Amino acid sequence: MREQLLRYRHFIDNRAAEPVTQQYLPVLDPSDGAVFAEIARGDANDIDVAVRAARRAFDGEPGETASGVWARIGAVERGRILHRWSDQVLAHCDELASLESRDTGKPISQARADAAALARYLEFYSGAADKLHGQTIPYQQGYTVLTMREPHGVTGHIVPWNYPMQIFGRTVGGSLAAGNACVVKPAEDACLSLLHAAELAAEAGLPAGVLNIVTGLGNEAGQALADHPGIDHISFTGSPGTGHRVAASAAARHCPVTLELGGKSAQIVFADADLEAALPVLVSSIIQNAGQTCSAGSRVLIEASVHDRLMRQLAERFSALRAGPAAADLDLGPLVSERQRGRVRDYLTAGRDARLQIAAQGRIVEDAPRGGFYQAPVLYAEVPPENRLFQEEIFGPVLVAARFDDEAEALKLANGTAFGLVAGLWTRDGARQLRLARALRCGQVFVNNYGAGGGVELPFGGVGHSGYGREKGFDALYGFTTLKTIALRHG
Ligand code: NDP
Repeated sequence: MREQLLRYRHFIDNRAAEPVTQQYLPVLDPSDGAVFAEIARGDANDIDVAVRAARRAFDGEPGETASGVWARIGAVERGRILHRWSDQVLAHCDELASLESRDTGKPISQARADAAALARYLEFYSGAADKLHGQTIPYQQGYTVLTMREPHGVTGHIVPWNYPMQIFGRTVGGSLAAGNACVVKPAEDACLSLLHAAELAAEAGLPAGVLNIVTGLGNEAGQALADHPGIDHISFTGSPGTGHRVAASAAARHCPVTLELGGKSAQIVFADADLEAALPVLVSSIIQNAGQTCSAGSRVLIEASVHDRLMRQLAERFSALRAGPAAADLDLGPLVSERQRGRVRDYLTAGRDARLQIAAQGRIVEDAPRGGFYQAPVLYAEVPPENRLFQEEIFGPVLVAARFDDEAEALKLANGTAFGLVAGLWTRDGARQLRLARALRCGQVFVNNYGAGGGVELPFGGVGHSGYGREKGFDALYGFTTLKTIALRHG
């Protein structure tokens, strides 16, 4: 929530709320490293205030026997409110995009696409709110059995900094449509667009307490949300390590969790593929958002007979890539923080120590401010599968390539990491498309296309270290509900 000096407070009960401690954290512009705003430093007390607000919206006021305002509103009206919110987001797309672009460093056109995606998530889930049907189940003579999809109650949402608007849209949109009230903890590096989007929700008619945002540090406000006994479900997107901590906290009180933990997704290119069509997609799926994308196509596996040709073409494209300030809207902006750039540089150092072969590098434009967190894109060739850069999520503009001789080797390489989020397959052979799509160990397979981050309608999530549970699409709604079976004996 804003004041003259770009001071943002929590958003609780449809109002700006001072942090209980009165403390604020600086907000840096990744394009120049300068502080331009501050956000409330929430802790367990603020989380408690927000959870109580959400509980009132869901359960009703203390002493009331009826349910809260959100449940009383009903599914049809819930959908209408979400639809109005979606319209509001579209009408304020430019403001939201400017906020997110400045806050995270993403090029302005990417931020606009993300604001439009937030609107689309809300639109999609607004239409789904009144379509969460149950079933009737044939049972013994004299019984009627039916199932009902019911909301969990109050859901907690821990949102990372790479796609704040999109991830907020896909988790909060689904949860609200299913009838839950929400408490959100955005990443400390990316709060501003969400606080503004929440104001728009209130303007669209979302009742007070249904959506609450507490900003602050992960190990303070985030941990307090994961620990709070008033939270009935947690949706977490971020690193495997933090996801593990959040899930362990939730498990201590039997609270269900959805984890989306990133990946090391492979794009497999066979010699019979349309290489001209594949080439730009191979580049954009790692360069989008400067590689800070959970579903980035961060490994490219190339069949030996076209390996050298495709690598030459990839190297040409990589050499032409330019990183610069978000407002300049180049191929990529800065990384989100100095800390994130440090993590990426550590991988590049490891690559140098292992004498990995750099096939090409992009560049940082000369007039990029010195204080910005820029990283030029890097393409590595012939990376051995046991190398860290092949195995671990770098979360920066770094593409590692390897060659394979046949389908079996391609599959072994693709499935050969602890992650399993997305895969891309480039081949014209229809039987191979299906064979491999089924054998790949991951949550999404794109054939002759790749959707890093795209596809509001498409269920999304991983296996292994990429997490569990599904987001996006209609399936995500089931995760935001619990199933009740009612057996009536009527004779
Ligand atoms: P984290 O997993 O630590 O952060 C993700 C979210 O969790 C943020 O909102 C963070 O808040 C919050 N958080 C941090 N600690 C806790 C905690 N103890 N309890 C509850 N919530 C917590 O990721 P990082 O930002 O540190 O990034 C590290 C790496 O994680 C990246 O390099 C990348 O590989 C991966 N990552 C993957 C993402 C994905 O989309 N799958 C998204 C972001 C990162 P805060 O930021 O305020 O600490």
